[in-house]
This record gives sequence, C-alpha cells and structure tokens, in this order.
Amino acid sequence: MIQTPLSCSSKLSDVGTTIFTRIGELAAQYQAINLSQGAPGFPVDPALIQRVTQAMTAGQNQYAPMAGLPVLKEKIAEKMQALYGRTYHPDEEITITASASQAIYASISALVHSQDEVIYFEPAFDSYAPVVRLQGAKPVAIQLSLPEFKINWDEVKAAMTPRTRMIILNTPHNPTGTILSSDDLHQLAAIIRDTGIIVLSDEVYEHMVFDGELHQGMARHPELAARSVIIASFGKTFHVTGWRVGYCLAPQTLMKEIVKVHQFMMFSADTPMQYAFAVYMDDPQRYLSLAGFYQKKRDLLIQELSDGPFQLYPSQGAFFMLAGFGHQSDIPDTDMVQRLIREAGVATIPLSAFYAGGTDQRLLRLSFTKDDETIIAGARALKAFRF
Ligand code: GLN
Repeated sequence: MIQTPLSCSSKLSDVGTTIFTRIGELAAQYQAINLSQGAPGFPVDPALIQRVTQAMTAGQNQYAPMAGLPVLKEKIAEKMQALYGRTYHPDEEITITASASQAIYASISALVHSQDEVIYFEPAFDSYAPVVRLQGAKPVAIQLSLPEFKINWDEVKAAMTPRTRMIILNTPHNPTGTILSSDDLHQLAAIIRDTGIIVLSDEVYEHMVFDGELHQGMARHPELAARSVIIASFGKTFHVTGWRVGYCLAPQTLMKEIVKVHQFMMFSADTPMQYAFAVYMDDPQRYLSLAGFYQKKRDLLIQELSDGPFQLYPSQGAFFMLAGFGHQSDIPDTDMVQRLIREAGVATIPLSAFYAGGTDQRLLRLSFTKDDETIIAGARALKAFRF
C-alpha cells in the first residue's frame, strides 16, 4: 500500500461501496443463491452474440460516432413511434450511452446547476441523490409509503420551490416494482405546467410491466415528453447488463446539453454492440415478450414463497419483489440479510439501502431475473428459514 502525505476531503463522505457490490461479494463468499443484484442469471440469445461477433470480425472495432450509431438511433426512433406514438429525431433527440447509469449521470450533470433542488422518491435507486449532490445541488426526498408506494402529487407540489430544477421518476420502479398510471402522468403534468421543471424518467424496465397493464412512460404524454429526459437500457432489455449500453431521449434543447457532458465522459458507447442491437431490434417480439417472461417468474416466486414466513408485496413491473419480515423479527434489515446469506444460503438486498437516511421497514428486495431453478431453490430456502 502506498502511503501518501496528502489528505483527501471526500465529496461523498457518507457514501461507501454500493450495496450491490457488497452483497454480491458476501453471496460469493458463502456460495449463496443470489437473489440480490438485478443481474440476469440465464444465457444470452446466441443470435445476439453472433451479431456482435460479426460486427467485430467485419472490423467495427473503433470509436462509434460520438452520440451513437445512426442506424441504431433510427431503430429506437421507430420503436418510440410504434409503442408510444411519439416522434424522436434520431440525430437531435437520441444519444447512445455506455449504460443507463451513464445516461443518468450525464443528464443530471448537464441540466442541474449548483444550488438547484431535485425532487426524487424514496426508496430510490442508489445513484440519483449522490449524482445530484456532486453538482452542488440539493436532493429533496419524498417518501413513498407501504403497501402501495404510490406518489402523492399534493406532497410533490408542496415540496416544489422556485429552486426546483428537476423531478426524478422511475417506472417500473426499482426496488418496489410499482408502476405509474396514466392518472399519475396527468397529475404530474398539471403541477409542473407553469414551471421550468425538467423530468428525468428512468424507464429501464419499460418492457417489464405485468397483468396486462401498459408502461406509462413520459413519451406517452405530449406535455411531459416536451420536458422529459427518458433513460433506457439495452442491458436490462436483452439480458446483457455487462455490455453497458443504454440510451437517453430528450427534446433537442435538453439533448444538446446532455451530449456535451456525454462527449467528455465516454465520448461514445461500445461500437460492435451498437451494430448488434440495431439488427436485433428488428424483431419487436424480442422486447415485447419480456412482460410475459418476467410475469411468469414473478408468479413462480410468489407461488414458492406463499404460506411461508415472509409477507409478500407482489410487483407490477421490473424484476424485483419486496418481502417483509417485521412480524417475525425486529432485527435490522441489514442484519437479516447477513443472517439469510449465512443461515439460509440466500442473498437479498435490504430495502434500507435505497434510503439516504437508512429507513428500515424490515423489508428485503428479491430479484427474480434468474433461471427458474434458482428462483425455486432460493424461495424454498427462504420459506424454510426459522426466525
Ligand atoms: N440495477 C441493478 C439493481 O438494482 C444493479 C445496478 C448496479 O449494480 N449498479 O440490482
């Protein structure tokens, strides 16, 4: 270890290594069944891998165009038109990024100024608030309450100030699996109509909405689309989270600024992967089938856990579900996660990790983006656990 005489004042002094990394390491150490990180646990379609190989073999191994491959952006524009009836200009309003996380970082960094306020909802994906703070801006958390975790728009209106620059939404929602309704979109549009507020909408789970419901993304609502940055993910959609390719969509005025940051963060996203996705997207079934695929997995998890010791909160979307143990034990959720790894051999994520203040409601997040055998084995081990 090198000793340095320098002191380093932290910009994120209260932030450690992400929960996903920490639990992943512990799960590996105890060889636990891993229902923690949202990392797909089944093989990637060989046809997609073949497309990447073809692009590499054909010599597509150098920098892609800075904001993304035109043919891929055209395919995305076609998808947005077909699914949500919204026109996005491929060159002006779509940028391919090196992961959805990078798109989130670039968007917040480009659009939020120091002293601005950014409203978001807890529990929340762990990157939003730290990225806002890195801009010298203030994250303002609004709490979502059990059991439905629905947004109370009056509360949002009350939290808005002249400094509010952005509202961050996430539908379907990680970690609770709730979704926004068309009524939510109308209420949001009404409260921000006469403001300069931008919406950052994390929609990486857009194709995983269950029980016949529709994904109510910002693109469906003309007024909201005109002031929204939408974040999407190829990793989540095509089971390749390690490839790190995502994208964002926004009106040209906003995108112009996002691209300025993107060019200095990554310059461009992975070239062969972009070629592969452009061809692979030709068959819409490859993403439209995801809702049914994951609904079956959710139902399998519920079936295997039912009549067990956990209280279940069935999700409406994404690939997560919450399970409560407060009626069994009052030890902190972080301790319970450790016990379950060691004693039941199953890794989960404590919900308190999704709160800046560590709010603990004795809830665990279970990920069901796993093969059926893993879901069954994990659920049975949890069901057999004695508190
Ligand atoms: N989105 C994934 C999850 O919530 C993990 C992301 C990450 O590990 N940074 O599980």
